[in-house]
Amino acid sequence: MNKIGKIAFTIIGLFILLFFIVDYINDNTLKYNDYNGNVEVYFIDVGEAESILINNKGSYMLIDGGNNKDGKVLVKYLKSLGINRFNYVIGTHAHEDHIGGLDYVIKEFDVEKFYMPVTAVPTLSYEDVVKALNKKNIKYNVPYEGEILNMDDMKFEVLSVKDNKDDLNNSSIVLKMTYKDYKFLFMADVESPIEEELLSSGVDVEADVLKVAHHGTRYASTDKFLSAVNPKYAVIMCGKDNDYGHPHKQALNRLKNRHIPIYRTDLDGTIIFKINKDGITVDTVKTNTNVEDK
Ligand SMILES: [Zn+2]
Repeated sequence: MNKIGKIAFTIIGLFILLFFIVDYINDNTLKYNDYNGNVEVYFIDVGEAESILINNKGSYMLIDGGNNKDGKVLVKYLKSLGINRFNYVIGTHAHEDHIGGLDYVIKEFDVEKFYMPVTAVPTLSYEDVVKALNKKNIKYNVPYEGEILNMDDMKFEVLSVKDNKDDLNNSSIVLKMTYKDYKFLFMADVESPIEEELLSSGVDVEADVLKVAHHGTRYASTDKFLSAVNPKYAVIMCGKDNDYGHPHKQALNRLKNRHIPIYRTDLDGTIIFKINKDGITVDTVKTNTNVEDK
């Protein structure tokens, strides 16, 4: 190699090195900046029903919308948080305690994408949701198992969804959220047959936070399943003195035996998980979103 060749070679080499250094710095600044801004998961107290809000620095997903009677107060609460648009609204399954209030949400907010299982029953709650979607020309999407829903740097994997009209609980959309190293598992109202299926499919169910299946029923959260999830926190969404006796003591005991801290909407109100560079923190706050006794 002549002298000019050597110089050119060195310069190219330096540029390549510089490229990697800049890339490395960018990457790390990005990682740090990523935590500036709120990443929060709200388990909203809507009594014997469910509504979960995920905020990824101003991008929002709503999983379920409580009972029909919760619709108005839920909308008010969501607006008080400064939300006017949802990237995703998910109706996990066609029962009223999950989709009852969703028609209010669809009417009052911009909704980019809506998902529900194909399973539909001709109930008033379900028809209200479909009517609200049609009125705003929002498409009814049915997810498939293994589908990934991306929300900025957060991803949601659809672990289960079934066309099962005879058993709506087990038709539920089960989602696993991953944000950096943190994982949340949202079980909706499925019971042990779906837990079994997830375990035998070999899908990774391990999660930091488990939204316990079906309001803490004894027919889910088996020992085997809890071993696989190995959660650091468990959340049970249920109403005070509900007609079903949720959460059932068998499920509670299986969680307690593992020394998993349990948060409950009937006792704690709305439960808010925040993720920042120091890890996960939990807050509980009484909100006026529970209209159960009014
Ligand atoms: Zn339910």
